[in-house]
Amino acid sequence: MDLFDVYPLYPIEPVKALGSKLWDKKGTEYLDLYGGHAVISIGHSHPHYVQRIGEQLKKIGFYSNAVENSLQSELALKIGQMSGYYDYKLFLCSTGAEANENALKLASFHTGRKKIIAVEKAFHGRTSGAVAATHNPKIVAPFNADHEVEFIPMNDLEALEIAIDEDVAGFIVEGIQGVAGLYTPSARFLNRAQELCEEHGVTFILDEVQSGAGRTGKFFAHQHATIRPDIITLAKGMGNGFPVACVLISPKIESWHGMLGTTFGGNHLACAASMAVLEVLQEEQLMQNATQMGQYAADVLSAIPEVKEVRGQGLMLGAEFDFSIADLRKKLLFDHKIFTGSAANKNTLRLLPSLAVTKAELDQFFEALKTELEP
Ligand code: PLP
Repeated sequence: MDLFDVYPLYPIEPVKALGSKLWDKKGTEYLDLYGGHAVISIGHSHPHYVQRIGEQLKKIGFYSNAVENSLQSELALKIGQMSGYYDYKLFLCSTGAEANENALKLASFHTGRKKIIAVEKAFHGRTSGAVAATHNPKIVAPFNADHEVEFIPMNDLEALEIAIDEDVAGFIVEGIQGVAGLYTPSARFLNRAQELCEEHGVTFILDEVQSGAGRTGKFFAHQHATIRPDIITLAKGMGNGFPVACVLISPKIESWHGMLGTTFGGNHLACAASMAVLEVLQEEQLMQNATQMGQYAADVLSAIPEVKEVRGQGLMLGAEFDFSIADLRKKLLFDHKIFTGSAANKNTLRLLPSLAVTKAELDQFFEALKTELEP
C-alpha cells in the first residue's frame, strides 16, 4: 500500500537526534531550527525525557480513562503551578485540533450559542470545528460550511465590536499566529477583547497550541498581556514529540459526565512525557533561555538588510523578506544542513528551535543565512 499523498516530503530521513541536532541515514548532521512544526521544546531525545517515558512504559503505558490515573492529577497540578492558572480545570487530549475542537464545543455548551468569531489567517487545526475556524478556503471541506464562523482582521477592535453580540458562543485567537506568519495580537486588542467577551457573555478562547509551553519566554504567549481567557488550548511543545494536548478551563464553566471524552487523552505515557517536559523546562530554566536567545536572534535578524520585518516573540520568530523564501530554505537545508520553517505567507522564514538552543547554534544559522543572501 502507498501513502496517501497530501503533503510534500523532503528526501531526508532522520534516524537519530539529540538536542538541536539530527542525523540522517548516511550520518550527515543537521541543525534543527524548526522542531517538526514547533514541537521540540526541550530538545530531541533529552535524557530525562527518555528515562521518564522508558520507566513509565515498564510500569504501564496505557489504560483507559475509566480508571483512576494519579499521573493526570500530578500533571494538572504542575501545569497549574507553571502557568499560574491554579484554579482552572484540565482536560487532556492528544492533538492541537482536538484541543481546539473541545474548546469550541465547551464555548457552545456553556453559552447555548453556535456562532464563533475567529481571526483572519488563523490556523486552528483540521477537525470539523477547528478547520471551520481556520481562515484558509483551500482546507475547508464543503461539509464544514454550515459552521457559523465570522472572521475579523487581527487587532481590529472596531470589527470585533461590530461582530460580537449575544449570538456569539466564543471568540478564538492564537497567542501568536504560527502558520499564518507570526502575526501577534496586541495587548490592547487582547484586553479589549476580554472586556467585550465579558460584556456579551462570550467565551474567550486562546489557542496556545503552538505558542504555549514556554516558547515565547512566558508559559503562554498571552501572558505578555494581562488577560485571563476562559479557555486555553495547548499541544505541540507540551509533549516534545509525544502526541499530547490539553484544554485549561475556567472554573466558571461547569462540567458534566459525557460532556467531553477521549480514548487516548491523558494516557500514562502522555502524562509521563508531559511531566518530563515541564520538569526540564523548570530545571534548565528554558523559558529564560527562550527570552534571551529569542532577543539575540531577533536583534541579529533585524540588522540584516534583506530582512524587512521580524515578527514574533522569544523562540517563535518570523523573518519577512520581499521575495518567496522557498529557494532560500532549500539552500539552507541542502547546502548548509539547517532545518527552518515557512509560513502560509510565502515570504516569511520561520524559526522554531528547541528552547535550549545555544548562541553558537544560532550563529551557525546566521552565518549560513548571510552567505546565501550575499549578492
Ligand atoms: N492550533 C495552532 C495554533 C496550530 O499551529 C496547530 C498546528 O499547527 C493546530 C492548532 C493544530 O494542531 P494539530 O496539528 O496537533 O492538530
